[in-house]
Amino acid sequence: MKYVFGPVPSRRLGYSLGIDVIPFKTCTLDCVYCQLGPTTVRTLERRQWVPENDIIEEIKDTLARHTGIDYLTFSGSGEPTLHAGIGRIIREIQAICAIPIAVITNGTLLFEQEVREGLMSADLVIPSVDCVSTKIFQRLNRPHPDLRMENILRGLETFSHDYSGALWVEIMIARGFNDTAEELECIAKKLERVRIDKIQINTVTRPPSDTQIEPASREELELARDILGERAEIIGDFTKEKILFEETDIRQRILHLLQRHPDSARRISAALGISMSIVELHLRRLADEGKLQRIEHAGEQFYRPANTVGGGRQ
Ligand code: SF4
Repeated sequence: MKYVFGPVPSRRLGYSLGIDVIPFKTCTLDCVYCQLGPTTVRTLERRQWVPENDIIEEIKDTLARHTGIDYLTFSGSGEPTLHAGIGRIIREIQAICAIPIAVITNGTLLFEQEVREGLMSADLVIPSVDCVSTKIFQRLNRPHPDLRMENILRGLETFSHDYSGALWVEIMIARGFNDTAEELECIAKKLERVRIDKIQINTVTRPPSDTQIEPASREELELARDILGERAEIIGDFTKEKILFEETDIRQRILHLLQRHPDSARRISAALGISMSIVELHLRRLADEGKLQRIEHAGEQFYRPANTVGGGRQ
């Protein structure tokens, strides 16, 4: 499969079938915490990056083979709203199935009317607002030079009032960048004008692009939640237990999960509903065979396929 991945367990969306409409790694930003690695094509150009009919065919084919999917989620190798056909793809999927559709976006293109219209029929949109100060935006998100923070915030506000689906804003907290009370208070103030259902506070739980980036502690995340107010919540680890594949396929299931993002034995165990000792055994064997690579992050060992850097924000 080229454009569809999973279903994968997502901390927020249950079992999510990922839809990847952008070539690796094409984005409007180059965030220091990006788990995909550095942006290779930083652009604002919206076009048919991959053929939309091929995407739709692959989704139909995958849906015919899988059940138990909680969400169809646009995410993956870059910024999905860079695909000029995202609106049509969403509508085509909705014509063939009733599974809710989520779009995880960095929100930087919401100032464009076509982007807002394209997302209008999605069931859930999750844009990011990591900061509101231009100085932090430049350091943390390293935007395309033509992006302006004031336009992004205006686009989000306009979208929030026109759109009738669920809107959750995500804030990724990276220590030393956007974790000060001052910046969080500015974000809270700007978001007062935005019609959102939730503010989700996240931190760097998987190995980032820049390995020097540190996650916020639980106490720091709680402080952020207090500042951001009643709509804010801290995203927890994924714990839903559900087995999607045959028991004999443990290695395949682990590799499948790691194809999209690096993960630790603890989280793989929780996500797949397999005991920690069995997961550790298979991870050790796969690493010894050269199929997986070990990486240290925040005092925990993570694994990823030896020949990829994969991983979306789900
Ligand atoms: S985290 Fe998301 S928005 Fe930031 S560079 Fe990676 S893909 Fe782009």
